[in-house]
Amino acid sequence: MSNANEPQSERSARPAAQGGGPSPAARSGAVRATPPTTAYVGRYAPSPTGDLHLGNALAAVVAWARAQRAGGRCLLRVEDLDRPRVVEGASARIVEDLAALGLTFDREVLVQSANLPRYEAALLALRARGSIYACTCSRKELARVASAPHSGEEGPAYPGTCRAAGHPLDDKDRPVAWRFLVEPGVVVVDDRLAGRVEQDVEREVGDFVVRRRDGVFAYQLAVVVDDAAQGVTEVVRGRDLLSSAPRQALLHRALGATPPAFAHIPLWVDEDGRRLSKRVGDAPTILRALLTRESPGRVLGRIGTALGVCAPGEELSARALADRITDDVLRVSRVTSSGPVRGS
Ligand SMILES: [Zn+2]
Repeated sequence: MSNANEPQSERSARPAAQGGGPSPAARSGAVRATPPTTAYVGRYAPSPTGDLHLGNALAAVVAWARAQRAGGRCLLRVEDLDRPRVVEGASARIVEDLAALGLTFDREVLVQSANLPRYEAALLALRARGSIYACTCSRKELARVASAPHSGEEGPAYPGTCRAAGHPLDDKDRPVAWRFLVEPGVVVVDDRLAGRVEQDVEREVGDFVVRRRDGVFAYQLAVVVDDAAQGVTEVVRGRDLLSSAPRQALLHRALGATPPAFAHIPLWVDEDGRRLSKRVGDAPTILRALLTRESPGRVLGRIGTALGVCAPGEELSARALADRITDDVLRVSRVTSSGPVRGS
């Protein structure tokens, strides 16, 4: 029987992932801890919401390069759970464009929408340990939470409105969001590039959504489940997701897994300091458009120039570029077409 309807105070007092033996999810292998002495496993995890731009290509190149430099593997994962935002054909185009750059990924491409039972099992495990409650707050507020990981905007913390309300989790007549109950305290993440991050998740973010009201598994949940299941040892991605790392570390631990290391890399901005976007109209920065006009080596050179490791106009292979991408090169918060931006 589920114990999800227990009073909130008992749920909060429950020790983390102990006492009850492995959860059904853990027994079925849906979530497992990363072995302590495993080889490097990285990943690049694009959302198929459009064609890749140079900022996305930068993240892909760096993720691949770090795996190459570590003598490890790099996986490719298509994060397509937010179906309304998925663009038809984008997934195949992304795979093609990465291959054109010479980035080869290990194993098969993991497509999130083909692995839904894995996320369901993780939710059951969280529910069994009393870490989930139902939230009936307005769609407007939920929209902000759902889009936060990709917008970089955290917005106000969820105030815990529904924490003690005892709304039923499974009410077919009244769809609810499922929130993860965050325990008090500061979560520390020692990012390999961005440095130490300390976040009081309960106060700064609040209990966050792991299953949206529309039934979609939330970004935070899916990424943690997949990183654990795929044995990812280092998460490489843009700085816009740095503030998600403490939440994800919490979820890893709640699911009985060891959080991976994190390495958040610079964002690519235009002359006005704005992040590149996938929208039509930004064609000069769309990878696919660039690859119709110039060689892959030249496009890789553009990425190297942004990082400050290639001269303007230089052409080189992905492997040669990887050799130049040291940790120090990545310890800036932003890059532009003409090079890295020092300072904030
Ligand atoms: Zn609520």
